[in-house]
Amino acid sequence: MRVVAIDGPAGSGKSTVARRLASRLELDYLDTGAMYRAVAFAALRRGMDPSDAEPVARMARELEITVEEHCVTVDGVDATIEIRGPEVTRAVSAVAANAGVRAELVRRQREWARQRGGGVIEGRDIGTVVFPDAQLKAYLTARLDVRAARRHQEVADMDYEAVAADMARRDTYDSERQADPLLKASDAVAVDTSDRSVDEIVDDLVARLAAPR
Ligand code: C5P
Repeated sequence: MRVVAIDGPAGSGKSTVARRLASRLELDYLDTGAMYRAVAFAALRRGMDPSDAEPVARMARELEITVEEHCVTVDGVDATIEIRGPEVTRAVSAVAANAGVRAELVRRQREWARQRGGGVIEGRDIGTVVFPDAQLKAYLTARLDVRAARRHQEVADMDYEAVAADMARRDTYDSERQADPLLKASDAVAVDTSDRSVDEIVDDLVARLAAPR
């Protein structure tokens, strides 16, 4: 199985790099953040408290989630736009800290890759937990101002300060949680994307994949 793991904090350029790399390698691409967002979306729709661990984990196990490149559905409902909105973004950290939810989504991520013979998979724990034997692991970072500016371009309805504050809050939460925290795998390549072009980064990763280990 050929798996490339792309991890890093919000706004580090994971999605852009992972998508382009997948198309260069002719592999499928999976955004695991969208899966956590889908669970948060479903919890909010059902009027659940996102931090109510046991009921949210139980719901996650029964939830039908499809994640395609430009379309995410949750129990048959198109949630592509809403999973990126401020309400889901606020709720997702609590859902992602839920060990029961993580166990279920990790299982689905492994199954997704098994069915396709691999893929380029982005998230927070792909190289550390989901695919510790990935063929290549990249850990992307960027300066906070660069990350916040990128995310600000995507969410038109929030001002820059709010985006930066929200991002710093999520970083802390993702890094300090007990269950599978955001962490660079010891064998991951660290890539600072602040001042490099996407093509340059992708070329570098493709070259590393081609090089004997
Ligand atoms: O990547 P994105 O910002 O869409 O991810 C949303 C949230 O999902 C992250 O802040 C993190 O809490 C969680 N997440 C995770 N593990 C992953 C992917 C995302 O905990 N593999």
